Amino acid sequence: MLENGEIMNLYGLTRQELEQYFTRIGEKKFKATQVFEWLYQHRVNSMEEFSNIKKEIREQLQKDFSLELPKVIKREVDTDVEKYLFELEDQERIEAVLMRHNYGLSVCVSSEVGCNMGCKFCESGRLKKVRNLETHEMVGQILVIESLIKERISSVVIMGIGEPLDNYDNVIRFIKIINDAKGISIGARHITLSTCGIIPKIKDLSELEIQINLAISLHAPNDALRNKLMPINKAYPLKELMETINDYIKKTNRRVTIEYILLKDVNDKKEHAKELANLLRGMNVYVNLIPYNETNHIEFKKSDKQTIDDFYETLQQEKIQVTVRREFGSSISAACGQLRSKEVK
Ligand code: SAH
Repeated sequence: MLENGEIMNLYGLTRQELEQYFTRIGEKKFKATQVFEWLYQHRVNSMEEFSNIKKEIREQLQKDFSLELPKVIKREVDTDVEKYLFELEDQERIEAVLMRHNYGLSVCVSSEVGCNMGCKFCESGRLKKVRNLETHEMVGQILVIESLIKERISSVVIMGIGEPLDNYDNVIRFIKIINDAKGISIGARHITLSTCGIIPKIKDLSELEIQINLAISLHAPNDALRNKLMPINKAYPLKELMETINDYIKKTNRRVTIEYILLKDVNDKKEHAKELANLLRGMNVYVNLIPYNETNHIEFKKSDKQTIDDFYETLQQEKIQVTVRREFGSSISAACGQLRSKEVK
């Protein structure tokens, strides 16, 4: 990682990678734990202050690593939600959302600059992917928000801009760092990754030793409709996706969340609810119905309240576990990629 003289961001290494670094420079592995404690428990942002690490090693660290964090260039605050627009070292912009629930604080982080999945209803996909986020840029979103609010968050959802399974390695490293008891220490059960359904990577995820929550953006109960809304369905159609989810559940013994945005007159009819119920019957899943956040640019409308209630009722009658997602932040364009998109134009 550093043989070529490249400077890395220290927030981008798992503790295990940092142990390997110390071993390579002829130092004891446990220094990695000390560094983690400085970074994530004491929240020190300067290597000078690593006072239990001797000066010459500190100097070596300073040569090899930076501690740059994303910059907040816009922060919008509402009662139970805050929206952050970050600028990265190359001036690219991403966003994160802080939500206050009665059970604690959660942060929705971005995983890529833009997104290539091209879902028709999604604001983030309107702006094509520029690049993956580096691990430290994901960790940074959390550290910066926590330092501004002076509170610790209790859960993380990887549901911001980007398709996390399209940036698999960096996202997994991020999960390891935030889950590490010496890192940000967020329990696996409090970490949720949402994907549009990249089958091979879902399989990889089922082998991961950290058992996070998996959410699948389904949004349609049949291929014809899903093909129209989500181009990824042409590569990974429903039948294979459902098989993969079933395998995932079998392997991990974990309940999977099925996300379903309700789009007016598109996928919100009773027949869609029944079709969805048939698709999911017998699976250890629950459906999270998402009231659509209307955006300026896309020709989709939110289903009305009655339609949402009816859809919910139908699923319940069909014995499918279902909840309706609470709406956050539409008043401050906190919804799904809108802040960045407004800035980028
Ligand atoms: N790419 C991943 C994660 C980012 S999107 C995925 O597809 O799951 C996070 C969730 O927000 C997805 O379920 C996505 O379909 C949904 N979403 C996108 N635009 C939305 C909008 N305008 N209103 C409500 N949900 C939206």
